[in-house]
Amino acid sequence: MQTYVRDLLAGEGPSFSFEFFPPKSDEGERVLWRAIRELRPLQPTFVDVTYGAGGSTRDRTLRVVERIARETDIPVVAHLTCTGTSVDEVRAVLRSLGEAGIRNILALRGDPPGGASSPWEAHEEGFHHAEELVRLVHEEGDFCVGVGAFPELHPESADRDTDIGFFARKVSAGADFAITQFFFDPADYFRLASDVRDHGCEVPIIPGIMPVTNLSSIERMAELSGAAFPTDLGERLRAVADDPAKVRAIGVEVATELCRELLDGGAPGIHFYTLNRSTATREIYTNLHPGHA
Ligand SMILES: Cc1cc2nc3c(=O)[nH]c(=O)nc-3n(C[C@H](O)[C@H](O)[C@H](O)COP(=O)(O)OP(=O)(O)OC[C@H]3O[C@@H](n4cnc5c(N)ncnc54)[C@H](O)[C@@H]3O)c2cc1C
Repeated sequence: MQTYVRDLLAGEGPSFSFEFFPPKSDEGERVLWRAIRELRPLQPTFVDVTYGAGGSTRDRTLRVVERIARETDIPVVAHLTCTGTSVDEVRAVLRSLGEAGIRNILALRGDPPGGASSPWEAHEEGFHHAEELVRLVHEEGDFCVGVGAFPELHPESADRDTDIGFFARKVSAGADFAITQFFFDPADYFRLASDVRDHGCEVPIIPGIMPVTNLSSIERMAELSGAAFPTDLGERLRAVADDPAKVRAIGVEVATELCRELLDGGAPGIHFYTLNRSTATREIYTNLHPGHA
């Protein structure tokens, strides 16, 4: 039986966790499993697997999550979304996950199928907000539930107070922990953590870190997610744009510094958006744990 992430987060020391996405091809599957094998020695607190916009990866997400649970001893979190799906379909997915022994779900509203910049529409027999999904997950089984959080606010939010208020409702609905969207300024994370505490929420909020290994793809992802990409980092990276090794080295250095500031300031752990690659994550982890070979 898998361990609950809330229990792991209550343990000693910061957590380290790694996000993967379900691959589309056999070659992608090999790349993913190489990354899992290479990250395994870091003894991750948990790993998680994304759910494609509109449930487009439902079967692949379930397959990867179930295989991780079956073939490794790493606790796994399955992402689940409300996009383009009825409540009955969500119930069926939860049943499959429960039968496979999965105990941890990241309950999200989901990105629109057309990408994060297009408008989001609820399914006619579905949910409108992650809060409703959090409730359903608890109703359907004995799951530990995580939710998303946004240090720079969710792009559709009217204002800060409203956004934090909706986050607090997800916690009241039963969220046990949260993972943030990636960001580059630690002040954004600490402000979110403090605002959330002011609303009486004590759940661990794990900062999500996206190491920069490729300038154009990170700029595109930052634009889609609404994260502000720092101008000075962009300039440093553009100055070495024709040398991928130098771009990566700067990305690893900057991410290491960000992780250090977050941990020193009391963040409960670090969540890496790995994009199914292990090298940058391993380098940052080693920088943070100098004794680790
Ligand atoms: C860690 C993490 C992992 C992610 N993984 C995936 C993934 O696997 N697949 C995927 O498709 N997307 C994923 N996303 C993206 C996420 O689905 C989108 O950012 C989505 O737009 C918001 O999801 P949410 O769960 O925060 O939604 P919600 O909490 O529902 O919030 C969405 C918007 O509605 C507002 N709101 C919330 N509750 C209410 C309410 N009760 N009434 C009115 N307004 C409300 C919020 O302020 C916000 O503006 C992930 C995001 C994060 C942070």
